[in-house]
Amino acid sequence: MRNKYRLLSLLMILLTCAIAGIFFGSFDRRIETVYGDNTRDAIFEVKKTFLQHTVQNQIARIDASEKRHTNLALRRVGEMNGILNAAPSGSRDEFIAFFRECFRDGTAWTAVLWDPVAGNVLHDPKGLFRKGFPGTPDGGEFGDFSAWKIGDFRGLRAFFGVPGTAVEEAVKGEIASEIHLSRFPFDSYIWVNEVVNYEGGKNYAIRRIHPNLRDTEGIFLSTETRDVKGNRPYLTELEGVKKDGKLFFTYHFKRKNSDEISEKLTYAELYGKYDWIVAMGIHLDDIFTAILKANEESGTASGRLIVLFLLLMVALLGVSELVLLFLEGKFHGESRKGLEDELNRDPLSGAFSRRAGETEMARAFHSFTKGALPPAIALFDIDHFKEVNDSFGHDAGDEVIKLIVRTVLGSVRTMDSLFRWGGDEFLLLAEGLKAEHALPVAENIVKTVAEHPASVDGQSIPVTISVGIAFFRPGDRGYEDAMKRADKALYRSKSEGRNRATMEP
Ligand code: GH3
Ligand code: MG
Repeated sequence: MRNKYRLLSLLMILLTCAIAGIFFGSFDRRIETVYGDNTRDAIFEVKKTFLQHTVQNQIARIDASEKRHTNLALRRVGEMNGILNAAPSGSRDEFIAFFRECFRDGTAWTAVLWDPVAGNVLHDPKGLFRKGFPGTPDGGEFGDFSAWKIGDFRGLRAFFGVPGTAVEEAVKGEIASEIHLSRFPFDSYIWVNEVVNYEGGKNYAIRRIHPNLRDTEGIFLSTETRDVKGNRPYLTELEGVKKDGKLFFTYHFKRKNSDEISEKLTYAELYGKYDWIVAMGIHLDDIFTAILKANEESGTASGRLIVLFLLLMVALLGVSELVLLFLEGKFHGESRKGLEDELNRDPLSGAFSRRAGETEMARAFHSFTKGALPPAIALFDIDHFKEVNDSFGHDAGDEVIKLIVRTVLGSVRTMDSLFRWGGDEFLLLAEGLKAEHALPVAENIVKTVAEHPASVDGQSIPVTISVGIAFFRPGDRGYEDAMKRADKALYRSKSEGRNRATMEP
């Protein structure tokens, strides 16, 4: 039964392990995929956020630069107004010369001087009058200026302003050097393309700022250009910014400071005022490296999980084996105990058997030889028991035996042991009962038995016992020597009239 159970539990555990193995095997691959996908998504998100924020920050700086340069233009116009008002006194021609000198820089300034009374133009290098000047400030002709002023000086009228293009050039120059100098992680950088034709085509844009390919700044770009995969990134970009003002897209491009081409994730946003597409990209190679690493890690993690599971199974096997052993031990223990009880008990009287008595006597004698105090050995025999049998029958005799055993056990300590030595003869073994107390204790037992006659079929049967007491003595070769002395004492009790106890000193 035991082997059957063990085989069954072993089979069950092996089966579980096999199922778990198959499950974890596929689970492992699933973990890997999910882990890889999640890592890719997470890195993508981080990178997208990084790109978008960087581009939008750059656009915010273009705006700030624009405002700063416009304010500067306003301030310079104000300052120039002060200078003209404070022009050194002199002839009209001297003032005209002074005026011309002030606005010598034709890029930074646009200036016109005329005589409003005579109606003749005195200074107009850019030919504004030919273009219909002067208009009104509200008419839109001044919209090309970031700051301007019309004022009367020495009877003459002047217009002067900082052209919007001057501010724009200053801003663009400042932003270009800022972008050229910027350093970003992952070899990424910002670049700017200026759209000149929103319809697309061969020369739809000019590459304005490109820190990675500075030599190519100023070249025309075409929406027809294809990357190594056949995609048209400029077209995608143009369409994206035309539709939403911004977009994310991927294409293949050279890595920074190398000719190696790899996939690049890019964010582009239109800065409408300058028709600039401000973009930033990041190569995706390191995402794949990270995914590979993530897969490796997830592989290790799920591998560990499998090992843990198998260890758990082995532990389970061990525990089930232990439980089995325990149950077995318990079962065997109980059955052995039952068996031992059967062998050690006298079935009629319930007293211990002679076999148990001999073992117990041998053990007691052994202890005695090792220095323990000797127990009191009281051998007793029922008086005239044959007569009981003869007069009242064998069954009545049995009842008498049982009664005597009950009576004796009732008048001794629980630690004392009573053995049926044979027939109507019993042995009482009383550990720790000293010689001086042994006789009175035995006499008390004799008395108690005599006081309890048996009652069979309404008939009272008087019963008495005779007792012989002995102790182990130094020099005894075995418990049998003491038994002989107890037997001798018993014989004396019998011969001296029975219903008494005698002790062999
Ligand atoms: P004494 O006082 O000298 O001991 O006289 P006695 O009649 O008791 O003599 P003895 O002890 O020699 O006899 C023992 C008798 O006990 C003999 C036997 O028939 C009887 N006997 C032994 N075992 C049993 C038993 O299990 N049941 C019954 N009913 N009688 C038993
Ligand atoms: Mg007898």
